[in-house]
Amino acid sequence: MSNEMKALAKMAPAPGLDLIRAPVPEIGPDDVLIKVRKTGICGTDIHIWDWDEWAAKTVPVPLITGHEFAGEIVELGRNVTDLSLGQRVSGEGHLIGKHSRQSRAGKFHLDPETRGIGVNEQGAFAEYLKLPAFNAVPLPDEIDDEIGAILDPLGNAVHTALSFDLVGEDVLVTGAGPIGIMAAAVARHVGARHVVITDINPDRLTLAREVADVETVNVAKEDLKDTIAHLKMKEGFDVGLEMSGNQVALDQMVEALVMGGHIALLGIPPGKSPVDWSRIVFKAITIKGVYGREIFETWYKMIAMLENGLDIRNVITHRMHVDDYRKGFETMKSGASGKIVLDWSAREV
Ligand code: NAD
Ligand code: ZN
Repeated sequence: MSNEMKALAKMAPAPGLDLIRAPVPEIGPDDVLIKVRKTGICGTDIHIWDWDEWAAKTVPVPLITGHEFAGEIVELGRNVTDLSLGQRVSGEGHLIGKHSRQSRAGKFHLDPETRGIGVNEQGAFAEYLKLPAFNAVPLPDEIDDEIGAILDPLGNAVHTALSFDLVGEDVLVTGAGPIGIMAAAVARHVGARHVVITDINPDRLTLAREVADVETVNVAKEDLKDTIAHLKMKEGFDVGLEMSGNQVALDQMVEALVMGGHIALLGIPPGKSPVDWSRIVFKAITIKGVYGREIFETWYKMIAMLENGLDIRNVITHRMHVDDYRKGFETMKSGASGKIVLDWSAREV
């Protein structure tokens, strides 16, 4: 193995990413080295590409970016006994601390010391990734590398969707980005009655219908109330999954919910945004903020659901080689895509 690898990195505090040669990471006794086969481009990577305010204050430079991946273990740290060479894995990109009260109580997803690969630490947009063995998640044969590469955002969708009981409930998802679409598919899979997803981008709504059996509403043109009437729903949605980060969508969700309804908020509004709190109080609505995944419980559930018929493959709309990463980022930025998966295999010459 050469001690150099290809990687996609932020090399200067400015927009863009560069394809570079970097040293293959050296692993510690509790780590594994993963040969990356496929990676997913995430909205977070777009923020890092654009070098917006959040990225500029969060991401150190230089940094290899990327956190959605699947690959194969090619080296084991000397303390690692429960994984094997050649094993196919994806993994949790949130590296947790072990000191906080929450972490010591086993609530790893609530650890305030969490650091993200590809955001705070060297990431997965590379031929090789160093990862604590604790974070590696073995992939069953039924889950191929491209699905393995999007388990991180599927995990966001699963964590959000499973925040509240959805069995027999009417569910509203606002925002038909890749995560909203996958959350709608999960809601359908676990037994919601009606699943309605909104967006203002018709391409995204078309994609939602290709991935899951859901009703779509283009809220730029159509009235959500018409859909509620058409579905013969009497009192409103029981559960809302906010996946757009848009204030208008949250307002609309609050209006469309039943008294005592529940909202799981994954979408990240830009900065502070006005909220009609009195409406939320008088409707007795419960709101839960959702960050990341519930770590291994979410990984367990999503793999189990994929093995049991959950099918989200159509959310992948573009597959390309990492050498064409510029095209991948442009396509993602245009909004005319679902998930984009980059292939890291060596190109035949
Ligand atoms: P995305 O940007 O691809 O999708 C958001 C969608 O919302 C877009 O299709 C957009 O057209 C739509 N939208 C905009 N205004 C709308 C409105 N008024 N009504 C309905 N839809 C509207 O994002 P994604 O990758 O699918 O992620 C979803 C959200 O979750 C983003 O806000 C992202 O930042 C956030 N996120 C949060 C976490 C977390 O840990 N909390 C993790 C990943 C992503
Ligand atoms: Zn991601």
